[in-house]
Amino acid sequence: MSIKNDLQQLGRGKEITGHDIMALERFADDIQHMIFFDVLKWECPVGDKNERARIFLTDEGYKQALESEGRGEMRIIRRARVRVGKLEIDAPELDRQIKPEPTPVFNTEHWDCECEEMYIHHNSVDHCDECGALRDESPDSRQSEVDEESHFAY
Ligand SMILES: [Zn+2]
Repeated sequence: MSIKNDLQQLGRGKEITGHDIMALERFADDIQHMIFFDVLKWECPVGDKNERARIFLTDEGYKQALESEGRGEMRIIRRARVRVGKLEIDAPELDRQIKPEPTPVFNTEHWDCECEEMYIHHNSVDHCDECGALRDESPDSRQSEVDEESHFAY
C-alpha cells in the first residue's frame, strides 16, 4: 500500500488538509519530520479545531508540535522522519532524542559570578572579590550546581 493511500485511510473519511503528500516542502533540506494530526483546540498554532491535517516540519517546528500536543492542542496520529524526500513512518526511538531539555531549576538563595571555578555566592555576599561581579546584576545559581557544592566561592 502506498503512503498516500495509507494516510488517506487514516483520515477515515475526514478531509485531509495541510500540505499535499507530494509537496515540495518535503524536499527542503531542513525539513526533518512529517506529522499527521487532529486539531483539538482553537489555540493550536496550526490548523482549525476539528481539522485533520498533515504538515512537514523542521526539527524546531517538530519540537513545538510536541509541546503543542503536550498542551492538549493537538493529537499526533502518525509521525515520520523525512530524509531526502523519503518518508520513514513511525520512528519513536528518534522522538526521544529531540524532546526538549528540561527547564533548569534555579536557586534564589545563591548567585553566579564570572569566575571560572568558584562562582557560586550566597545572597548574603553582595559582590565577588575575585571578578568584581555584583549580586544584584548576576543570575541565580542553578540548583543542580548548588547541590554539587563544588563551586562555592565563600
Ligand atoms: Zn567571581
